Amino acid sequence: MTLKIGTARAAPGRLTYGQYPLLDHPVGGSDAMPVILAQGDPRGPVFWVVSGIHGPEHAGLQVIHRLLTRDLARQLNGTLVALPALNPAGLRTMQRQAYYHDGDPNRLWPDGRPARQPEPDDDPPSALEQAYGRVFEDMRGAAAVVDLHNAWTNSVSFVFRDRVFYRNDGPPAKRKRARAAAQKVDAQLATMCAAYGHPIVQELPVKKYLARQLHRSTTAAVTNLLSIPALTMELGTGHMPDPAIVRAAVAGLRNLLRWAGMLPGEPEPITGIKRPDPGYACRRCSTPRVSLACVIHHLCEPGELVSAGQPVAEVRDVWGRSIGENVLKSEYDGWVMARSHGILYYPGAAVYGLAIRDDLPTVQPYPKDYFKS
Ligand SMILES: [Zn+2]
Repeated sequence: MTLKIGTARAAPGRLTYGQYPLLDHPVGGSDAMPVILAQGDPRGPVFWVVSGIHGPEHAGLQVIHRLLTRDLARQLNGTLVALPALNPAGLRTMQRQAYYHDGDPNRLWPDGRPARQPEPDDDPPSALEQAYGRVFEDMRGAAAVVDLHNAWTNSVSFVFRDRVFYRNDGPPAKRKRARAAAQKVDAQLATMCAAYGHPIVQELPVKKYLARQLHRSTTAAVTNLLSIPALTMELGTGHMPDPAIVRAAVAGLRNLLRWAGMLPGEPEPITGIKRPDPGYACRRCSTPRVSLACVIHHLCEPGELVSAGQPVAEVRDVWGRSIGENVLKSEYDGWVMARSHGILYYPGAAVYGLAIRDDLPTVQPYPKDYFKS
């Protein structure tokens, strides 16, 4: 049976193109998500790569353009599905959000909770949320899903690995099956991360992860609700992609196609990017935080390993005089994902995105009240 995504129809040995309808504009015209299919042997697995859900994050488009070539289509065992512009309005305006949906578009994917009765005063799901719901359904049965993003200006290229949840209610046999399925997909995430070859950062602790609606990101929804391993790739600066990171991401994705049994040959080396390795698993943390309004002089570079107690930033007033703590020290061992944007800080702002030691479980039951709220 021919694979069809939106208006694109796959054809063996070829690249094919189409669109995924999104919405009509009140002034005429419409928005659609572009679709590219690269198919080799149609009997092989289906692998998805999506990007552009956050408007200022442009590296994913270049990665997809460079990954999906005619040569790749001829070599593939299976089909690569690419949606380079999940949020066309955001990309056009270089805004994180689409102007026709108020909220982070990467918090709109299904959460597995039972559908609620519509409330007259609540807005119904936006066109964007409905479109992502249709894409989600089309992803069923895929071997893997990758969502391409950019983190902060000059940040290191890295992977966000989601935490995996399972339902711990119902009869014991059902609970056991749910836990085994979660452990299986978590183990696949680990081997995917290794195959991609870029630094790995695990997501926030569970309470914060859920509070920030991260379980409704593309990759969390796919991993948890479809049991398909999915990773978020953060590709450095968004508004001006770093060609070295784009190249390393294309090589990493080709290695992921090999991991999925879709591409022949040995893994390609990942070169040209920083690959900090502290020797232990890490999660993201915004730290340290300033105690007063100040100008910061960062003392560490993205990719640098840091240890607890190490001076990481000078704290000054606008005239250049040392104030407050004078020097901020790291509270943790870890490595610098990025300096936060700008150097002017209000009290409580964090100076770095740091990857810190993470001993928390990567697989756990959903919180008890998750399906009730
Ligand atoms: Zn993003």
